[in-house]
Amino acid sequence: MTTECEHRQVSNATRQCTECGEEMISWHKSEQRIVAGSAPNAPSFLAGFEVIYECARCSSDEPRGCGRTHRGEYLNAAGKSRRD
Ligand SMILES: [Zn+2]
Ligand SMILES: [Zn+2]
Repeated sequence: MTTECEHRQVSNATRQCTECGEEMISWHKSEQRIVAGSAPNAPSFLAGFEVIYECARCSSDEPRGCGRTHRGEYLNAAGKSRRD
């Protein structure tokens, strides 16, 4: 059995792995916040979003998994990547 692609880098535009071209089946954005100061109730600001993808293999019980870390380009607080 050959080593399968772990889809580490996914294009936000196409939702396909940049290495093998497989299309991801779902995705979500994960908020990244910066806390201003060290006080327990310090205000936090939205810094941007990590885009996390799931491929068809993520939900299967195959012994050889896909790594389950499929990320797109980081988005800023306005939802734009650096190339937009
Ligand atoms: Zn791939
Ligand atoms: Zn996967």
